[in-house]
Amino acid sequence: MSNCIFCKIAAGEIPANKIYEDDDLIAFHDINPIAAVHFLIVPKQHIESLAHTHPRDLGILGKMLLLAPRLAAEQGLESGFRTAINTGKGGGQEVMHLHIHVFGGGKTGKMADVLAKL
Ligand code: AMP
Ligand code: ZN
Repeated sequence: MSNCIFCKIAAGEIPANKIYEDDDLIAFHDINPIAAVHFLIVPKQHIESLAHTHPRDLGILGKMLLLAPRLAAEQGLESGFRTAINTGKGGGQEVMHLHIHVFGGGKTGKMADVLAKL
């Protein structure tokens, strides 16, 4: 997708504070963090949202989830972290390229308050 900011980050066309990359995924710190640690796990392939996934995406979805605890630990979130996937306008999704938010550290507020800020 030529006009997609996360596709551009995945292609190295615009910079990001990257913490992980392999053939299929990239992870980088959120530019507007809502917690002491807040990063995004993003498939390099353009998938618009969770609502646009298919059974063929099982592998990439599994890789994304498996990476979350590994990177969270590397980022110092050994005691735990939150994940969020905003889906569609009604779900508060602003960047229309699938991503998992992983965040934590500092005071962990109530779920509803945290998600309201996403
Ligand atoms: P969502 O509302 O789930 O689509 O979240 C999109 C997230 O992407 C927000 O938390 C933004 O702060 C973050 N974001 C947008 N542009 C960038 C960027 N260039 N680098 C890092 N994070 C970004
Ligand atoms: Zn994209």
